[in-house]
Amino acid sequence: MSVTRPFVWNKATVTRRKTFIKINLKQLEVWFVTGSQHLYGPETLKAVAKHSQEIAKTLNAASAIPVKVIFKPVMVSPDAITALCMAANNAPKCIGLITWCHTFSPSKMWINGIKQLRKPVAHLHTQYNRDIPWSTIDMEFMNMNQAAHGDREHGFIWTRLRKNRKVVVGFWKEESTQEKLGAWARAAAAWADWQNAKFVRFGDNMREVAVTDGDKVSAQMKFGFSVNTHGVGDLVKVVNAITDKQVDALCKEYEATYTMTADLCEGGKRHKSVRDAGRIELGIFQFLTEGGFKGYTDTFEDLHGLAQLPGVGSQRMMAAGFGFGGEGDWKTAALVRAMKVMAFGLEGGTSFMEDYTYHMSPDGQLVLGSHMLEICPSIADGKASLQVHPLGIGGKADPARLVFNTPAGAGLNVSLIDLGNRFRLLLNQVDVVAPEHAMPKLPVAQAVWQCRPNFEDACACWIHAGGAHHTGFSQAVTTEMIEDFASIADIELAIIDAKTNVRDFQQTLRNNEVYHAINKGWAI
Ligand code: MN
Repeated sequence: MSVTRPFVWNKATVTRRKTFIKINLKQLEVWFVTGSQHLYGPETLKAVAKHSQEIAKTLNAASAIPVKVIFKPVMVSPDAITALCMAANNAPKCIGLITWCHTFSPSKMWINGIKQLRKPVAHLHTQYNRDIPWSTIDMEFMNMNQAAHGDREHGFIWTRLRKNRKVVVGFWKEESTQEKLGAWARAAAAWADWQNAKFVRFGDNMREVAVTDGDKVSAQMKFGFSVNTHGVGDLVKVVNAITDKQVDALCKEYEATYTMTADLCEGGKRHKSVRDAGRIELGIFQFLTEGGFKGYTDTFEDLHGLAQLPGVGSQRMMAAGFGFGGEGDWKTAALVRAMKVMAFGLEGGTSFMEDYTYHMSPDGQLVLGSHMLEICPSIADGKASLQVHPLGIGGKADPARLVFNTPAGAGLNVSLIDLGNRFRLLLNQVDVVAPEHAMPKLPVAQAVWQCRPNFEDACACWIHAGGAHHTGFSQAVTTEMIEDFASIADIELAIIDAKTNVRDFQQTLRNNEVYHAINKGWAI
């Protein structure tokens, strides 16, 4: 599997763009909060605090957890709990709480705080002492290591309040426990990133297309991000103001980074196509950066004043961490951004993707995923090739694009669907296969995969669920992260994996329809 290559802007190309929205999970915090009470006296509380500090320190140092873990004083009163929850709400760097009850912490004390808390929670059900000291165990040990019942009291109140949270069970020093917390932290980071995020659409939706459209007001209410349109002319103005010097520098960067034929390089007959693409890339980057946008959409139906449909530019924007969706697909643009955040620092890439064409041989069915141009080179197997070819639609000049294969290995496709009354996430686990045949005439980047559990059932389930042809594809993001993300967002997640069968899946969709329609009425 390829390692995600960090995107480095050539200093000569783009200088001092301080507003560039870089993804950096290391700046974010989760707060480690231990529940207790006054009942045990100051000595016990001191020991609880010491143990909690040790656990927080260990989790903070765990490589599986990509954010800082900050110890918070042990909670012993309703007022302190409420104050902590409100402080968490107002701390921009705090993306969530890890809660744990070393001893017993009566949960009525937590009601007001939990009701007001707007940050994600992982309830860590662990114990300070891993083993029972069989020969020496006494009541002192019993009273110090009470998570077995203290955490049940804690869990009850979250369930009683119908609040979503992740429950992680395991010894705190175990890697598997830390990995579960890490997956949740990545989902929480992506959620934090969505709050107040701005996405821009250059032009509207592809005409008459349903699945890429949706309710942007509902999305903002539910997810926290806004989506607004700029006429492509606004972008053209920025593109046209890019200097030749900037374009020169970017073209040098292309030549240093990608395989290119001589006619595309400086002095070559078709170099102008590459320069035009480079100018568009720089314009998009400047527009996004100056506007504080975390992603964008475009559409081949609205390119007035742009020489080409953005190809290599959109590919490299994704590699830099921006979300992208083709044909006005703002939901997928936002989803790709969220998945980029979840994937921070992990092996494997993440891209906008489209189920493009099938191999329906009885010897093995495959899906070829691609797009007209815009696949992120973070999923490239080796060095990408920069090529210029005609594009059958859009009526513009031949666009430059990066062409590459995707390495074999596990991956997943995720779709965010607007069902009218609510949103659904849909996930299919896939296995990318190494291409068995060269495709010399295919001028786009692509990935070829097998679906789990198999082609027929996966596609049937996907279509029953109303999944889009556009997805966020990743070989870094895991099903667990998407599960945690859906739980934080409080929306449905339908999963198609190795265990899925069509009949049960359809029934799950029906059950979910009922659940999501009425669950909010049960909280009080
Ligand atoms: Mn498309």
